[in-house]
Amino acid sequence: MVDKSHIKHFCSIVGEENVKSDKAHLIAYCYDATRDRFEPDAVVFPRDEQEVSDILKYCNEHKIVIVPRGAGSGFTGGALPASGGIILSLERHMNQLLEIDMQNMVAVVQPGLVNMSLQKAAEEVGLFYPPDPASEEYSTLGGNVSENAGGMRAAKYGITKDYVMALRAVLPNGDIIQAGKKTIKDVAGYNIAGILTASEGTLAVITEITLKLIPKPKHKQTYMGIFPDVTSAMNAVFKSLASGANPVAMEFLDSLVIKALKQKLGVNLPESAGAVLVGDVDGNLTDEVKFQLETLEVSFKENGATDFIIARDETHAKELWYARRNASPSITIYGNKKLNEDISVPRSKLPIALEKIYAIGDKYGLTVPCFGHSGDGNIHVNVMVKDKNDPKQLEDGHKAIEEIFKLVVDMGGTLSGEHGIGTAKAAYMNIAFSEAEMNLFKNIKKAFDPNNILNPNKMGL
Ligand SMILES: Cc1cc2nc3c(=O)[nH]c(=O)nc-3n(C[C@H](O)[C@H](O)[C@H](O)COP(=O)(O)OP(=O)(O)OC[C@H]3O[C@@H](n4cnc5c(N)ncnc54)[C@H](O)[C@@H]3O)c2cc1C
Repeated sequence: MVDKSHIKHFCSIVGEENVKSDKAHLIAYCYDATRDRFEPDAVVFPRDEQEVSDILKYCNEHKIVIVPRGAGSGFTGGALPASGGIILSLERHMNQLLEIDMQNMVAVVQPGLVNMSLQKAAEEVGLFYPPDPASEEYSTLGGNVSENAGGMRAAKYGITKDYVMALRAVLPNGDIIQAGKKTIKDVAGYNIAGILTASEGTLAVITEITLKLIPKPKHKQTYMGIFPDVTSAMNAVFKSLASGANPVAMEFLDSLVIKALKQKLGVNLPESAGAVLVGDVDGNLTDEVKFQLETLEVSFKENGATDFIIARDETHAKELWYARRNASPSITIYGNKKLNEDISVPRSKLPIALEKIYAIGDKYGLTVPCFGHSGDGNIHVNVMVKDKNDPKQLEDGHKAIEEIFKLVVDMGGTLSGEHGIGTAKAAYMNIAFSEAEMNLFKNIKKAFDPNNILNPNKMGL
């Protein structure tokens, strides 16, 4: 429990104006994108790494829980103070781009910098930061690293972990560490930056991030493939990638999403469309882009595509992408509660995984529209509950989710491709990990945080 003497001490570290315990602030920092709510005891806004260290040291000594927070856009409750304590908010002061090192092609940033600010700064100097979560306009790089966020461009360019070169971080006892270097190669010691990436704020507070940048490709083109059904589209995904196509993105919409887009937003997609793949290809030479498109077209058609559309210009490209970008809001036609998961399977398993996921939905009489990042095997599976006030429907929805997780893990897949575990999926960790594996996670947590003050009771730990 945080009392007045603790608040006074926080004020002595960060200044009175950077400690808030009034109702308005407690409410403003009690939620994330899960829409669950847990009020913290106070919100503290450190101005630099030393202040983070001083706060952690004090909290460790007094066994006060700390929850690091970026923009609070997480989908799994990582930034929620579910066990009370203080929110350590990194987005207010520690949000600077510290350096773009052109010669080594890296950026050094503070954790509160918004993803899109880095993308824009890199592009201004001809460089490129590819990870582009759909929350890129507001999610912070500290949050992206802590969740190992992915995005549309993951099919070709990978995810956040592929760009993390080094981190500075503060351990729960206040010690400041440097993990990794600006070097491409570094095999000295354990890969602590790797362990902190995706650790959901449970091991250390990240205070500085060194990220790899790459040259910005000169040409880009948008495509869309129309398929009669989900199975042919899913076959086209892994077969076209195996045949040498290397698209930036290959995003998928199923027939339920297509129906919802037409009904709710009047989106213009062909009558015959039972599934859609949409994405971009890029390259430095126009021939490279042309080759990619030709490869995709041949492969899509060999796998049953009835149409392959190439965007005529930027406006047309935006029209093609509009359907994918509005998939999530459109499917509310199926119910007022969406249990949305972001499972991932090896791409070759996509056709059978989806077939079985729809069958699980049918078993419980639930509609399960699916869309997402098929190019990297990560699909947003949405179990729609028609009426969230009907406890039976909700219970069935959760039963369906559990069956889906079991199925996915049996197929060599994972509970989460990008949103993480947090509080939302903590109960399912034993489906994906053995007792020995869970014990290893718990021991890692204990080594970093013996007093369990940093974001406790998350990730099933
Ligand atoms: C509309 C929408 C679309 C989204 N699309 C995507 C998507 O395409 N891909 C994707 O991967 N995710 C997506 N997300 C989820 C979310 O945006 C990401 O998980 C993002 O990385 C969270 O960043 P944040 O700054 O909001 O972090 P928060 O939600 O504030 O925190 C997330 C986790 O990181 C920890 N954390 C934050 N900062 C630090 C730090 N400095 N040190 C240690 N721990 C820290 C927190 O404790 C918490 O566990 C989406 C969310 C929304 C609302």
